[in-house]
Amino acid sequence: MHEAKFYKKEPVNKTRCVLCPHRCVISNHKAGICMVRTNEDGVLYAATYGELTSYAVDPVEKKPLYHFYPGTELFSIGSWGCNFKCTFCQNWQISQQKVATEHFEKEDIIRITKENNCIGIAYTYNEPLMMYEYVYDTCLLARESGLKNVIVTNGYISEEPLKELLPYVDAMNIDLKSFSEAFYREVCAGQLDPVLRSIKQAYDAGVHVELTTLVIPGLNDGEDINRIVDWVAELSPEIPLHFSRYFPQYKMDLEPTDLEVLNTAYETGKRKLKYVYMGNVSSEIGGSDTYCPKCGKEVIKRDFMSIDTSGLFDGKCKYCNRQIAGCF
Ligand code: SF4
Ligand code: SF4
Repeated sequence: MHEAKFYKKEPVNKTRCVLCPHRCVISNHKAGICMVRTNEDGVLYAATYGELTSYAVDPVEKKPLYHFYPGTELFSIGSWGCNFKCTFCQNWQISQQKVATEHFEKEDIIRITKENNCIGIAYTYNEPLMMYEYVYDTCLLARESGLKNVIVTNGYISEEPLKELLPYVDAMNIDLKSFSEAFYREVCAGQLDPVLRSIKQAYDAGVHVELTTLVIPGLNDGEDINRIVDWVAELSPEIPLHFSRYFPQYKMDLEPTDLEVLNTAYETGKRKLKYVYMGNVSSEIGGSDTYCPKCGKEVIKRDFMSIDTSGLFDGKCKYCNRQIAGCF
């Protein structure tokens, strides 16, 4: 077992994990809220170091990242465990329970990524930062090997571990699930403020950041959307925001998000942000293409099978030369 970073010893063989804002005090032979970080006789272990439940070659658009090397692929890996308990979790089979794993050395990940002509690695599926040490070590090796590192996360991590990791991260998609503390507390078993801090911290560190909000009818589809858009616009209107359509999953059985509701969120976003998208909908519905914020021409066209970047030249709009965020 691999010893965890970011913990303190407490009396009577207890440990306090400080990797995320839960700051769990963990008794001997027990694990924290995420189920992953385990105390054995006063030493905290990262139980999922190198233990993967899922891996696949995915288009970068699937993360979703629409402005980071469009049309390329990432080797995507995940384990089990999460520090949130979202009642709508689409990956609850691996985020909310322990499941069988396959061990991969970090060198294996680099080799498979290269063999599959992927530009880099996406740490995703469950909450990848619960296997922080493995993500960190693999990120370092990937960086040395000329590969990109992409983290897909709920953003619920403490400031110091994120600070140590960010120099090796190229892009992140961070969930901004709501702008309501009550939503985060009651639906996700977390808190909003640390997520906002993580987004800002990653953006300020120069990491390419895109955000995702799953729009859930009656829960975050009203004033929440305005507040999310206002907050992101203040941080930077250049940050791409994905409004994703909710479908019933896990413990949540509300009706799927009405397309009109999703479209209202999309239109709200477009009033203040340069790049807004709709996700979990067919490309025929719209909301998946990138338009130049200056001249309004389509610069990246996305549909189910293909990505057409012919409107880009050196990461700029080929019609008016305006830089398109995140593109090279
Ligand atoms: S990472 Fe896990 S054990 Fe550590 S504080 Fe967060 S939920 Fe608790
Ligand atoms: S943060 Fe993501 S993986 Fe974790 S419970 Fe919520 S939706 Fe599932």
